[in-house]
Amino acid sequence: MVQYVNADKSNLIGTDAPRPQDKNPKGIGRIIAIASGKGGVGKSTVASNLAVALASKGLKVGLLDADVYGPSQPRMLGVSGRPSSPDGHTILPLRNHGVTLMSLGLMTPEDEAIVWRGPMLMGALEQMMNQVDWGRLDALLVDLPPGTGDVQMTLSQKFFVAGAVIVSTPQDIALMDARKGIDMFNRMEVPLFGLIENMASFVCDGCGKQHHPFGSGGAKAEAEKLGAPFLGEIPLDLDIRIGSDGGVPIVVSKPESLQSKAFQRIADEIIASDVYARAIL
Ligand code: ADP
Repeated sequence: MVQYVNADKSNLIGTDAPRPQDKNPKGIGRIIAIASGKGGVGKSTVASNLAVALASKGLKVGLLDADVYGPSQPRMLGVSGRPSSPDGHTILPLRNHGVTLMSLGLMTPEDEAIVWRGPMLMGALEQMMNQVDWGRLDALLVDLPPGTGDVQMTLSQKFFVAGAVIVSTPQDIALMDARKGIDMFNRMEVPLFGLIENMASFVCDGCGKQHHPFGSGGAKAEAEKLGAPFLGEIPLDLDIRIGSDGGVPIVVSKPESLQSKAFQRIADEIIASDVYARAIL
């Protein structure tokens, strides 16, 4: 009879012990969660511009629009039409501006509300993760719904999330909600890439002065307090709004603008971070 001297091989280097990233669909290098404490702070706008900025640096980038209550990425990336499924199982995602996109918004009419309970939302997230033919991706950005609900928990528990980016406006109220988001990711053991302050300031085209309608420096101060990286600030700007609502993110339409450069700098910060490097396959 064969005698196994050490049946427990978990302490041996080079064993087939499962790695955390094995939870993810094959070929997806990193999952990057884009989150916010409350709605309307520009999370989806930041997600689409960051996706395009990362793709412009030669990375293979996917964007999963998991903002199930208000999927806006098809509009922001200028993508329409229903994804096909030739074999009735695998769904073929759509592509624009160098980014591969899947969104519930592509499966439902734009003016129809998604009135689903938690289990259906969680099922939809898993399906969009596992049944979509993402191909090989360096990074899959996941545009989460605002807050700390079922979708965030399912993503963090069922998949290996490399890290989270928190988007906030500088106001106290948005930051208070952002803190809850950070707390949730800490509890789920998802590392933070850092905080982005959106709508940080705007330059008046009448008087040329810089104004801070929502206050200033809130997210940076908060990041320092939490010991989390501050990734940068994005101004409140008409061209950013027009780009997002018109399907051509400003990083594509005005790549040389200061606003685009702010997104590009944040993309560089993300790629250069320890959190990004740690998640290598
Ligand atoms: P969220 O995903 O947090 O709900 P959105 O990205 O949908 O927010 O943004 C809400 C609205 O604000 C959109 O019309 C978007 O174009 C606009 N918006 C977002 N960020 C900016 C910005 N920096 N400057 C101008 N408008 C912005």
